[in-house]
Amino acid sequence: MHELTLVQSMITKISESAAIQGIQHISRINLVNGKFSGANTEALLLAFSLFKDIPLFKNAALEIEEPEIIAMCNSCHKEFIVEAYLFRCAYCSQNNVKIASGQELYINYYEGE
Ligand SMILES: [Zn+2]
Repeated sequence: MHELTLVQSMITKISESAAIQGIQHISRINLVNGKFSGANTEALLLAFSLFKDIPLFKNAALEIEEPEIIAMCNSCHKEFIVEAYLFRCAYCSQNNVKIASGQELYINYYEGE
């Protein structure tokens, strides 16, 4: 599972950061997972549940935001939200578009003490 590797990496990064800051219990993790990131939110949550036996993450809640896919039209240069993975300009109906955002996957912030 691709998501397991992603969550493993997130756990490692937060563990390192928490160690530096002297944080012993994480209470909340906010992750941004764009709708075109390739990672499935349900699978990320499931993968995260496998790490709950690590004391640092025992009481941590994982929140995942899912920003829309935004594309820009190369013909009319307008930006629009991509619905249902339909990569066609909402203004001029051209297929000549590029992804502006929605591919992001990153730790927005975490909280703990
Ligand atoms: Zn257009």
